Order: sequence, then C-alpha cells, then structure tokens
Amino acid sequence: MPELRKDPIVGRWVMVNVENPYLPEDFKIKPFHWKGEEGCPFCPGNEHLTPPETEVFSEAKRKPNEPGWKVRVVPNKYPALMIEGGAHRRGVGIYDISNGIGAHEVIIDSPYHYKDIPELSISEVEYIIKAYRSRSVDLRKDKRFKYILIFRNFGQDAGASLEHGHSQLIALPMVPKNVNEELIELDKIKSITMGATKLGLGVNASGGIRYEHLPSLAQVSNLEDIVLGDYIIQRSMLIGLEQAIRETLQLIRLRELD
Ligand SMILES: [Zn+2]
Repeated sequence: MPELRKDPIVGRWVMVNVENPYLPEDFKIKPFHWKGEEGCPFCPGNEHLTPPETEVFSEAKRKPNEPGWKVRVVPNKYPALMIEGGAHRRGVGIYDISNGIGAHEVIIDSPYHYKDIPELSISEVEYIIKAYRSRSVDLRKDKRFKYILIFRNFGQDAGASLEHGHSQLIALPMVPKNVNEELIELDKIKSITMGATKLGLGVNASGGIRYEHLPSLAQVSNLEDIVLGDYIIQRSMLIGLEQAIRETLQLIRLRELD
C-alpha cells in the first residue's frame, strides 16, 4: 500500500510509492569528461579573467588578484542580481514588485582545476567553509539583505558552466516563502526535541510529547543536548559523521568528569 508521510521540514504531507519505487539504475547519469584547464578563469594565473576579488584565503603573502590563494571569492561576472541600489518595493495592480538587488558571488573552492571537494584535504575544505562563513557575516551587515543562499553545482548535469569546482552565494532582499515555512516547522521540531530530551523520551515529531508542555520545557537553561546536536552537524561536514559522533561522545565523557 502507498504511504502518506509528513515531511517534517515543511510540515507537508507527501505521497510515497513504497511498492514500485524508482531504482538507482532508473536515473541515468552521463559519464563526466573533463574539458581541460585551458582558458579556465578560476585557475591560478588567470585571475585577470574574473572581476577583482572580494576576499581571499591564503597562507602565503601575495598581491591582490595573483596566484598563491587557497580560496578566492569574486563577484559573479554575469550576476542574477545587482548589488547597487535600493529594493524600492512597490505595488502594481495585484502585483508586488522589488528591484532585483542582491549580491551574487562566486567562491572558487580551490586552486586545483581537477579536484572536487572529496579530493581536497581537511584543511582545504575548512578554507571553503571559512569563506562561506566570512562572506555571509560580511553580507549580513548590509541591511538590505534578508536571506543568503550558498549553493554548489558540480559538472554539466548540475548546470555548472565551468568545470573548476566553485560555489555561489546569493543574498536576497526577502526571505523565500518555503524557507519561512521550514523555519516555522524547524522551530517546532527543536522545541519537541528539547522537551523530549529533557524528559528522557525518544524524539517523535508527530506528537510523542504534548505541545502544551513545551513552553515551560523550552525555558530550561541547560541546552547542551541541542548544542551538541549542532556540534555534530558542523563537525561531520569537516571530519565525517562517524568521527564527529566519536568526538562528541568523548566531549560528553569529559563533561561528566567535570
Ligand atoms: Zn580551472
């Protein structure tokens, strides 16, 4: 029998085909062929082919827009949104219109043309995450921007026009509706998780704990369980999930010894 399952992230019910689901072989993926680094604007030595850099991460001393960087951030040469100007939100008939302002940056993940993230060292991946954070912190200072999205397409099938590994950052003057919905549902899950953990219950987002108990439980000041959850997610991006869990268990043991 098919199932209806509630998507906990947006709180929406979805139909799931559990009897005849698509199999991995139903999704044909064309083999990836490198075109080569010739003329690549993201390779070291070709810095002049991009707009001047916004920020770089490097270990060595270097002149701006020259090689020697680990991660390089530049404005997108073909931006989807323009950085200058105000939102000038206005109504026209039934429509709500805003000027297309926003930031659109390219984060060049590494100096290596032929390496994707799994082939980089941990410290090289750390530079990428530091760049994501630093650009987000910087753009958040601009009060016009309400939402920042970082995404990464790799390969032609994903829509990446350049094969040298890179991420993109877009800052928007409004929060997308679906993101608002996700935030509302995540807040509920967080409250439930917090409450359930404090009561020593398993987490059940669909009513394992009653909502009316939540406001008082949410006042609990010691939120180590939630903090550790965030910590696992952050560390697992850098060192892998298993290692992150092992490290977290070690932390818990140390805290217990305190
Ligand atoms: Zn390249």
